[in-house]
Amino acid sequence: MIEEKIICIGCPLGCETTLKIGDQAEVVKITGYKCKEGRQYVVEEYRSPVRIFTATILTEKSARPLLPVRTDRPILKSKLKEAALTLVRFKAKSPVRIGQVILPNILNTGADVIATDDLLD
Ligand code: SF4
Repeated sequence: MIEEKIICIGCPLGCETTLKIGDQAEVVKITGYKCKEGRQYVVEEYRSPVRIFTATILTEKSARPLLPVRTDRPILKSKLKEAALTLVRFKAKSPVRIGQVILPNILNTGADVIATDDLLD
């Protein structure tokens, strides 16, 4: 049996949890959490961690060469690198409004990449 330590980020307490993992990669025991939401978070963080993807993409404006973007929901952590490589090919054309979808359903994750700033003429 192995142990996995995961800090819960569900609230400012930041509980340090310990997961005991069985031979089939199953979670056998969890200690250190203080609420059921935290317990659920650390199990999901162990099984399939997700993150909001953030990046900058190129624009066609020399005065403003980069536009910050993010996904509108978390995607699997294992897809972050592929998401970054996908966006390398994109160039934003003005005008872009904050919140505008730049790339829908990136990598079939169900998440849209949206602008986090305006890019105006
Ligand atoms: S386990 Fe509960 S109390 Fe602890 S950090 Fe997570 S959400 Fe907060």
